[in-house]
Amino acid sequence: MNYKVDYKVKNIMDVPSLGNCFLEGEIGARVDRFILERVSGKFALEEILREAENFFKTQYDDIYTFGYWRSEFWGKLMLSAVRCSQYKNDNVLKEELRKSCYTMLSYQREDGYLSTYRNSDNLYPVDVVKSALYSGWEANYCWNVWGMKYTLWALIEAYEYLDDQKILTGAIKLSDWIVAKFALDGTRVKDSGVMDGMPSSSILKPMLVLYRITGDEKYLNFGKDIVKEWSRKDNERPNLITNALSGEAVADWYGLSSKKLNEGHDLGSDWVPKAYEMTSCFDGIIEMYRVTGDEVLLDAAKAFYEMLKKYESNILGSVGYCERYQHGASYADSATEICDVLHWMRLCYELFRLTGEAKYMQSFEKAFVNAYMAGVYEDGKMSAFFVRSAGRHYRAQPQCESMYQHCCLNNVGRGLTNAAESCVTKSDTGYFVNMFTQSYVRFGDTDIRVGAGYFDSGWVGIAVRNPEKGKKLYLRIPEWSKNTKIRVGLGDDVVVPVCGDYYEVELNEDTTIMKIRFDMTTEVINCEWEPIPDGDYHSHRWGDGVFGLCNKEMMLKCSKVVLRRGPVILARSKKFGAKEEDMFSLDTLYGKKIDSIIARPIINNIGVLVTLRVHITVDGEVKEYILCDFASAANIDTNDPKFFSIYL
Ligand SMILES: [Zn+2]
Repeated sequence: MNYKVDYKVKNIMDVPSLGNCFLEGEIGARVDRFILERVSGKFALEEILREAENFFKTQYDDIYTFGYWRSEFWGKLMLSAVRCSQYKNDNVLKEELRKSCYTMLSYQREDGYLSTYRNSDNLYPVDVVKSALYSGWEANYCWNVWGMKYTLWALIEAYEYLDDQKILTGAIKLSDWIVAKFALDGTRVKDSGVMDGMPSSSILKPMLVLYRITGDEKYLNFGKDIVKEWSRKDNERPNLITNALSGEAVADWYGLSSKKLNEGHDLGSDWVPKAYEMTSCFDGIIEMYRVTGDEVLLDAAKAFYEMLKKYESNILGSVGYCERYQHGASYADSATEICDVLHWMRLCYELFRLTGEAKYMQSFEKAFVNAYMAGVYEDGKMSAFFVRSAGRHYRAQPQCESMYQHCCLNNVGRGLTNAAESCVTKSDTGYFVNMFTQSYVRFGDTDIRVGAGYFDSGWVGIAVRNPEKGKKLYLRIPEWSKNTKIRVGLGDDVVVPVCGDYYEVELNEDTTIMKIRFDMTTEVINCEWEPIPDGDYHSHRWGDGVFGLCNKEMMLKCSKVVLRRGPVILARSKKFGAKEEDMFSLDTLYGKKIDSIIARPIINNIGVLVTLRVHITVDGEVKEYILCDFASAANIDTNDPKFFSIYL
């Protein structure tokens, strides 16, 4: 693809093109099943994709007082499908995607408007009083611009894939309509939609991509107007750049004195730090940095990452708690939305591409092999809305009166392809193995293969064939692998003097084979429980109810222990014979003296990353557990509210 505008700042890290990088082993099999069931198969195309297209034909997202978000479903499906089609080199799917784009363009109004909202003036928050009268729920929902963002982005990526001018013309018409509409209304993008305009403002990213494709400065200026609103002296919400640079916890950015709270057109301050929408805006901030070279934008994105890591890292490898940033790191338990995991991974991925720093891939891997893969159900037909640390995951029920569409489920394919691209990357100096899940990657004539074993034995074979002259190999040694050994070719085992950073390996001209042995010592993580105020949102999410749980007493009223081995959090599950009364007992290992932990992988278990027979000596007594990786503990559709637990 030729762009009329070059980046001012180039990525340090190149990723392999999709179609030249493949996830293999158990994760690869799950990815393939998901693509077949939700993206490329007959049902996916004829039912799921068709339904999403039809929302643009029927346009009934705004028939109620508050608006729905059916507007996002086609865009998310198409963004995933474009990438999955490339990943699988699927030319049949490619033509189906072209057809789908044409169908969408047939619903585009002459003036460029293309949406599931019939009323094109309906871009702004709705009155909560009217909304409550109708629905009983004080939601100021309007997702029109947010939906157009997904449609626009999908059309642009489809154009980049299909090289089809008709699709690009449709994308240009839509973005021209959006730019002109805000100019005509005399409003800011942040005035539109919900949550202080964060969902709408995330349109920044596709607008900047379109600017690079067309060279039309109006898209850049539109983006600059969005970014300008995030560095305000009066700290009007959301003020993302100024707040990110402050280093304060996001949950504390907006105090109760915040003036919008009293205006009656708001979901309330609790919903302002909405994780998915907020993190989505940083996709655009990072893109603006690449386009303009304005260092403050990169500094803000880096500071946002550090702040989330410090205050919002949850036990599942993601950030936030149940869709929001609210000191997620301080909770003993967790539940995390799949879209939040995805956008955390995307933030890490983009910062890694710009900086090449190991820490970003460390966070990416932790999120991917734990929280994200836990959300992709084993049959490939379904995902979680959010994954929990015990009980069962919260299924992605179809939303907005649809049959098959869900916010998270429609996003899943993108995260899987982001992961495939991230396993091995390339810089001017060499090849970087960032994740050790089984994969195969090609850069031109160079092949790199990462073998099995990362999750069970911790021994991973890597082969590099035909490297470019002078290029080296860099292996990311995870921060938990304190004692790593490597054997290159027929040489001796060497202790790797690096932990939490890259280790450099010289490559032969033809083929280099090596074996790494990671330190699989089991780590004990203490999860201390603290009293939770009545009515706390976090308590509410664990309440008993149709979608809720569970043993509230155990989940919310006792401290517990979690084990980590290698890259994965371990869990007990009924899949592997764990008993309910053991998993949800108030008698936990917390505070007890653990003398030793011996964990031995159980061979020949299909459908898991790892299962282990674990002997823990506690106060002189040996207890036996069968544990598996968190991602495999409950990646099924179950009505059983006491199916698994990561707690001991
Ligand atoms: Zn979601």
